[in-house]
Amino acid sequence: ATIVRGLRRAFDGRTVLNGIDLTICPGEFVALLGRSGSGKSTLLRVLAGLDTEADGEVDVPSRHAVVFQDARLLPWARVLDNVVLGLGRSERGRGERALAEVGLAKHERAWPSTLSGGEAQRAALARALVREPELLLLDEPFGALDALTRIRMHALLRELVARHRPSVLLVTHDVDEAIVLADRVLVLTEGRISLDVQVGVPHPRRRHDGAFASLRARLLAE
Ligand code: ATP
Ligand code: MG
Repeated sequence: ATIVRGLRRAFDGRTVLNGIDLTICPGEFVALLGRSGSGKSTLLRVLAGLDTEADGEVDVPSRHAVVFQDARLLPWARVLDNVVLGLGRSERGRGERALAEVGLAKHERAWPSTLSGGEAQRAALARALVREPELLLLDEPFGALDALTRIRMHALLRELVARHRPSVLLVTHDVDEAIVLADRVLVLTEGRISLDVQVGVPHPRRRHDGAFASLRARLLAE
């Protein structure tokens, strides 16, 4: 499990995270909402080990992978080389399979600059999943994509998560994305988790049922 206890983070004396307690169970998909500047990325960076200045207890599986809003592919390496970067030479086959899984088999030898935004995010997902992470950290991975591409990426992510079974922490601005994808939705307000609700089994019809509407209203009000 991923366990955070009493996490605090301040920048130049200004407190951003003010006592975060959070447990993410194996295989659980958690979405994190919160206003711009509420500290979502800060929390994710601490979990990813990219920020080591925070106070408190943080216990994260050693195998974790991060996908950001921009794919952050290395421009001088072809797509497959990006995916298997840092892995052994014998892992190329796994990289190829990961690219096939995200629908990019034909782009193995392409340069990152030739990919569309959605394709680049697919490559970033392949690069994360080829490492078989126990915890997948996603910071607004679809935030820069158009609505239709975003919906396709939701379907893809759901498929990938069902197959690989990582725990997921998805930071997003999009309440609907959170409800549609996650088992549990958190809201970060003034440095603390102000709401922590279970969503239940996702189903397309949830969009239209009363439970969905009241949860959506609650999250938007927070
Ligand atoms: P957004 O939804 O816009 O991405 P966020 O919830 O991810 O916002 P953070 O990026 O975590 O917000 O930032 C939270 C606060 O911490 C902001 O006020 C930001 O300016 C501040 N902050 C983050 N990183 C640093 C840093 N390295 N140095 C100083 N202040 C920082
Ligand atoms: Mg952010």
